[in-house]
Amino acid sequence: MGIQAQQPLSVVDQARTIISERGEVIVKFVISSGSDVDHFSRIMSVDHVIGDTIIAYASEIQFERFLETDVPFRILQPPSLKLKEASITEKDAGQLQEGYPSYTEYIAMMEDYAENYSDITTLVDFGRSAEGRKLLALKITDHPGFREQEPVFLYTSTMHGDEVVGYVLMLRLIDELLTKYETDSRIKTLVDHIEIWINPVSNPDGTYFLSDESVYGATRFNANHVDLNRNFPNPLSGDHPDGNEWQPETVAMMNLMKGIRFSLAANIHSGAEVVNYPWDTWSRLHADDSWYREISRAYADTAQKYSPEGYMTFLENGITNGYAWYSITGGRQDYSNYFLHAREVTIELSDEKVPDESVLPAYWEYNKRSLLDYIEQVLFGISGTVTDERTGNALRAKISIAGHDRDSSEVYSSWEDGLYHRLINSGTYTVSFQSPGYHEESHTVNVPGRSSVRLDISLSPLMQPYKLYPNPFSDRMFIYISEDDGEILLDVFDLAGHKVISTAELIPAAGNQQIHLNGLVEGLYIIQLRYKDYVIKEKIIKTR
Ligand code: ZN
Repeated sequence: MGIQAQQPLSVVDQARTIISERGEVIVKFVISSGSDVDHFSRIMSVDHVIGDTIIAYASEIQFERFLETDVPFRILQPPSLKLKEASITEKDAGQLQEGYPSYTEYIAMMEDYAENYSDITTLVDFGRSAEGRKLLALKITDHPGFREQEPVFLYTSTMHGDEVVGYVLMLRLIDELLTKYETDSRIKTLVDHIEIWINPVSNPDGTYFLSDESVYGATRFNANHVDLNRNFPNPLSGDHPDGNEWQPETVAMMNLMKGIRFSLAANIHSGAEVVNYPWDTWSRLHADDSWYREISRAYADTAQKYSPEGYMTFLENGITNGYAWYSITGGRQDYSNYFLHAREVTIELSDEKVPDESVLPAYWEYNKRSLLDYIEQVLFGISGTVTDERTGNALRAKISIAGHDRDSSEVYSSWEDGLYHRLINSGTYTVSFQSPGYHEESHTVNVPGRSSVRLDISLSPLMQPYKLYPNPFSDRMFIYISEDDGEILLDVFDLAGHKVISTAELIPAAGNQQIHLNGLVEGLYIIQLRYKDYVIKEKIIKTR
């Protein structure tokens, strides 16, 4: 090994000392031309790439792997330690936090918002971090106690614990939505028509690494020294692309995301100023690449308009395809896109990860319009419900666009209410609705720009789920069941409405089965079948 030849031992020792104290070290190095950035992205937590220069975080194991590459490096001071402790100001209780809150102030703010604006918000405690800190989100919408027929939007920030600008901006955004709901018609429209979820800090152990009192000393990794944005299942490298178990924060986030069935999200970071859209994993473009470019462009353009020259202009003037910048696996945006059939981008808000508190209001000013506009994007596209034509019950259906969808970009309607949202650019599309056991339907839809087209679909079953025969019957009656994934419950009533066969009969398997209708005298009866969501009544005739 050439470590000793290339690195002064003191630098390596120094890095190991930092790792032993903080669980991570930040290194900066230059790769030789033609060398593979992706190689470094696989062995450590690459944070930033500018040309040939890489800034990366390394845990103990990652640092030892990095040493094997023999690349000379410099150690960077953690951005959270550049913050002068004195710059963190004391706050008055109940006042909007313009600076970095302590952990207890944060919890109190979230609880106060939920209490003071209970008509339009609910506090959701969706889990615990590795060290037992609370993972909190506010659900902001009219009628927060109900699941309405509205699209669901999700902002989360600071899964890298030392990227704290987004954390403060999320608190500002919550404040903006709640305090201006009654007076600002734009905000009222967003809150009334969208279920908005905001999780300001998704890695509180990293953010409060040194103390619950302050973000000073925050780390990127969680308490187990894992980069949470490399810890999600990946379409290419499987469930555990980083070789680590899913962290408590990851499990909680996956459960939250699956539970709320969001259509659009953003994952907020710092360390650059750019909107990063899928994929991070591979070079193939997302089916909705043009839509992604458009919404990312809109975010960056608006931010540029309300900020000093040069802000949010990194890479392609403030936007980038993830893979084109540098590839990662285990990132959340690819997880959301591939496995949840949702849409998500990663917004890098500020070059400085932990700027002085005094500049935080400026970052809010640069971003507040973009943050609101981005929420609004969830309203545009095709939406509606899918139901069973006979029963009107909600159906889970696959909603896909021929010649357009690929790599899991299709969406699904919900089991619970049949609701779906297909965000898409303006254009004319042939949309197919498929559900097992039902006739497929296709509809051609014209979607004008920045508007929503409602398309409610009812699908007809492929066949009767059952068939009774013979009818009339003399001694035996049979039932043919076409599917084997449900039980049928039977009751028989006489014409006066009295139940004459009182115990329902369970028929668990598909195929032909005899049903026992002993003891019936000749005459007309009503047989009631309950199968899945169906309740079907049919006349049967008993003969001699
Ligand atoms: Zn980050």
